[in-house]
Amino acid sequence: GMRLEDELLRIRQILKAAHIELTLEGDPKLKHTSLMNENVLSMCMKEAVTNVVKHSGATACSIIIEPSRKELTLRIQDNGTGVMGENAVFRGHGLQGIKERLEFVNGCMELHSDEGTTLVIKVPNITE
Ligand code: ATP
Ligand code: MG
Repeated sequence: GMRLEDELLRIRQILKAAHIELTLEGDPKLKHTSLMNENVLSMCMKEAVTNVVKHSGATACSIIIEPSRKELTLRIQDNGTGVMGENAVFRGHGLQGIKERLEFVNGCMELHSDEGTTLVIKVPNITE
C-alpha cells in the first residue's frame, strides 16, 4: 500500500517532468483515515494526475486535501482543456476504476469540467 505522502513525491516528479506547476494545499499526513482508504486515495490521485498529464494540456495542477471529521476530500484541479463530452467516464478504464474502488470503500467521485477539470474524491474517515 501507498501513503498519500509517498505518492505525492512521485506525483511531484511526474508533473515537473511534464512542466505542469503543482500547488499543494492541506496536510498529506492523514490522521483520521484508515490505511485502506488512504491507499485507495493514493491510487485515485495517481490516476487523476496521469489524466492531467495525458489529456488536459494544463500548465498548472492543484491538489487540495480537505479533512473533516466525517470524510477526507481530495480535489485534483487543472487549468487545461476540460473533459470533452458527457460520457468521459466510459471512454477509458481509469475513471471507471476510480469510481469502482471508491464505491467499494463507500466513497464517491465527482467530475467537474468548465475551465479545466476538477475531480473531487471523498472517502469516509474513522469516526468513533
Ligand atoms: P486509461 O486511464 O484507461 O489509460 P484514459 O485516460 O483515456 O485511459 P480515463 O482515465 O477513464 O481513460 O479518462 C476518460 C477520458 O476523460 C479521457 O480519455 C479524456 O478524454 C478525459 N479526461 C480525463 N481526465 C481529463 C483531464 N484532466 N483533462 C481533460 N480530459 C480528461
Ligand atoms: Mg486515465
